[in-house]
Amino acid sequence: MFPIPQTPGNVAVSNIKVYARTRPLLQQEREQGATSIVTLIPSDKKVIVEDKAEKSFKFENVFGEKASQEELYQSAVAPLVRKVLDGQNATVLAYGQTGSGKTYTIGTDPCSTKDDEGILRRAMSSLLNGKVSEGNLPPCQEDAHISISFLEVYNEVIYDLLASSRVPLKTKVEFGGAISAVGLIEKEVTNVADGLHLIEKGCRLRSVASTALNRHSSRSHALIYLIAQNGNTRGCLILVDLAGAEGVGRAQTSGQHLTEGIHINQGLLTLGRVLSSLSNPSHTYVPYRESILTRLLKESLEGSRHTAMIACLNPANCNMHETINTLRYAEQAQNVRMKPQVLST
Ligand code: ADP
Repeated sequence: MFPIPQTPGNVAVSNIKVYARTRPLLQQEREQGATSIVTLIPSDKKVIVEDKAEKSFKFENVFGEKASQEELYQSAVAPLVRKVLDGQNATVLAYGQTGSGKTYTIGTDPCSTKDDEGILRRAMSSLLNGKVSEGNLPPCQEDAHISISFLEVYNEVIYDLLASSRVPLKTKVEFGGAISAVGLIEKEVTNVADGLHLIEKGCRLRSVASTALNRHSSRSHALIYLIAQNGNTRGCLILVDLAGAEGVGRAQTSGQHLTEGIHINQGLLTLGRVLSSLSNPSHTYVPYRESILTRLLKESLEGSRHTAMIACLNPANCNMHETINTLRYAEQAQNVRMKPQVLST
């Protein structure tokens, strides 16, 4: 759908940039006596769990509970927005267990305040204004606009969240096994408020799918496409709020999801396998075709030159296993290295 430019000789070299972010303990967690087991060492860009050296993970950058949305945006996303303004494609993946801060970070939480606003509003603003700094924005050019698409993958089916009702979309197979959603709505907006309004409506459509909203949204992936057209160049930023990662680590290492009956999201499992294949220097097979999510993201992951993953952490002690699993998954994503002519079937 959005072709990724190839490097000379088809040798894509760089990796996915991975960031870790921990949220503060919530009031309710404090009241229940939870303590934080996550320590950050910003100078070393390290996350340490339970102060144990063997549970230490190094990333591109790390953000503590006091880090602002703006700080995270400038470090992890602004460089990608610059690429999009140059007509390239980029992807931001928010990964973590349910309740770890993915929605807050992407910025689709309807309760967020102005200061709290996440990547979505900041990226729209930068794309509309043609620059990445938030300070002293010039007035929009009269014809400045971006186009937005918003879809959800739930139970391996794609739903268009900008449609008037929740109808599944058909898919079309693209080159190499990637897919695109047929008839996906693309709406033009000329200002941030209209863009946020569209996404808010989409989130409402997502929520009517289930009375248990948390259960539904924690099992579905939400993909927002922000498309910037500038003359002949067209760049796209995809913001992905991934399904809750609970259980994925265990299932990947031991196949426990079958024996224990844990519900694991097919997209996250396959994404993990894809990342694992791509981080293995001798890989010849990458299982993109095994989930809708990885087929939608194939071009982005394959190029992986402009992909950021934000590993969101819930610091409470009772979540230690999930936190470690999230950090391991993120570490694996960080090891992704592309080699020429990847065979993907
Ligand atoms: P997820 O999308 O991963 O399920 P949410 O984004 O809904 O998680 O976050 C869970 C709760 O934690 C929400 O109440 C949210 O406002 C709060 N939260 C998440 N990240 C932060 C943060 N960095 N600072 C303050 N509160 C946060």
